[in-house]
Amino acid sequence: MTEALDIFRAETRAWLEANCTAEMRTPIARDSDVVWGGRNASLSEAQRQWLDAMGGRGWTVPEWPAEYGGGGLSKDKTKVLASEMRGLGARSPLSSFGIWMLGPALLKYGNEAQKLEHLPRIARGEIRWCQGYSEPGAGSDLASLRTSAEDRGDHYLVNGQKVWTSYADQADWIFCLVRTDPAAPKHLGISFLLFDMTSPGVSTSPIRLISGASPFCQTFFDDVRVPKENLVGTPGKGWDIAKYLLTHEREMIGAMDSAGGRDSLSQVAVRTLGLDGEVLSDAGLRSDIVRHEIDAWAFGLTMERVKDEAKAGQGVGALSSMLKYFGTELNKQRQELLMSIGGTDALAWDDDGGDQARAWLRSRANSIEGGTSEINLNIIAKRVLQLPGA
Ligand SMILES: Cc1cc2nc3c(=O)[nH]c(=O)nc-3n(C[C@H](O)[C@H](O)[C@H](O)COP(=O)(O)OP(=O)(O)OC[C@H]3O[C@@H](n4cnc5c(N)ncnc54)[C@H](O)[C@@H]3O)c2cc1C
Repeated sequence: MTEALDIFRAETRAWLEANCTAEMRTPIARDSDVVWGGRNASLSEAQRQWLDAMGGRGWTVPEWPAEYGGGGLSKDKTKVLASEMRGLGARSPLSSFGIWMLGPALLKYGNEAQKLEHLPRIARGEIRWCQGYSEPGAGSDLASLRTSAEDRGDHYLVNGQKVWTSYADQADWIFCLVRTDPAAPKHLGISFLLFDMTSPGVSTSPIRLISGASPFCQTFFDDVRVPKENLVGTPGKGWDIAKYLLTHEREMIGAMDSAGGRDSLSQVAVRTLGLDGEVLSDAGLRSDIVRHEIDAWAFGLTMERVKDEAKAGQGVGALSSMLKYFGTELNKQRQELLMSIGGTDALAWDDDGGDQARAWLRSRANSIEGGTSEINLNIIAKRVLQLPGA
């Protein structure tokens, strides 16, 4: 087994060396460095080549089965691939709600036709997905959602509104929670629908933030006809799929602080502040950075352990709330420290000065998106610690 893994490691290293160009080995520094894919993606030549090379091998989703566009790799081989990519400083070829959220849900709940239609296109970055969960009046209390999908024989007629839909104006398709049975208790009348954002009746209105960016939208559905075959799972049982998808979303958001393809805090600090002998010149920051890096290291190990203990292909369940809570606190702390390291230079706002201030402000949203910290602490109390009365 170890010998087979050693061979795999050597082959993987050689392949990455040959296919990951120098440009794709530099840290991700700004939004345009992140590849989201999709019909309207505008990629540099290097980004396109890297995405096609990795997508062609199924290595954008190494653990997914090969018949659905994945690499068909075991957990061990997936870890080897990740560690070789980290060693090379290789960027992730594709960031995708399809990979992080919808894919795992389809693998568990989708029928064969849905898997064959959607998963390979997600793996190759051809279709960009957005998430239609939150509504005005249904955020933490998501099961109060009111967007309706009326059964019209061969299709559903969808009407309603979503809010905070990240990148809805750039997405090709949406995975969407809708109410198919208004008479049922609120968790039971919900269904999980997939549809094309170019369907007649879908419109988006970007929400402009104080930073000038518009990362999310209000999304409106006005008599949108969605073919019946686009319903995932059983009508009225969408809440189970929604919750399962959220565990994957939370695990992904929690892993943000340990995401590869970027410099460590100490590397940035040494480059920016310089050394005093062999140690960082700023003693106060030195201890804060060391504490953060130890916490991040321990968190990385915890994440590995939790994933190892998870049942194959089933994800980490309620423990994702723990990973999300702690991981997002760590990421916020990392961004605070980067601001301290950068000093007044870190306040630069335009592209010529870098994006640190924006990244710091953006990190404040980490403990809201995908379920707030309070909601995740409630889940930890109830499902992980099984506290009485929680
Ligand atoms: C950057 C970002 C991107 C997002 N992207 C998407 C997206 O793509 N798709 C999507 O569908 N949604 C998205 N969201 C929405 C996100 O899921 C919601 O903002 C989140 O679930 C909280 O809902 P809310 O904003 O309605 O706040 P509310 O639910 O109104 O909560 C307000 C406050 O009350 C607290 N609170 C509420 N209930 C409880 C309780 N029972 N116990 C203790 N405290 C409680 C909350 O913790 C929070 O502090 C995004 C949000 C952000 C910030």
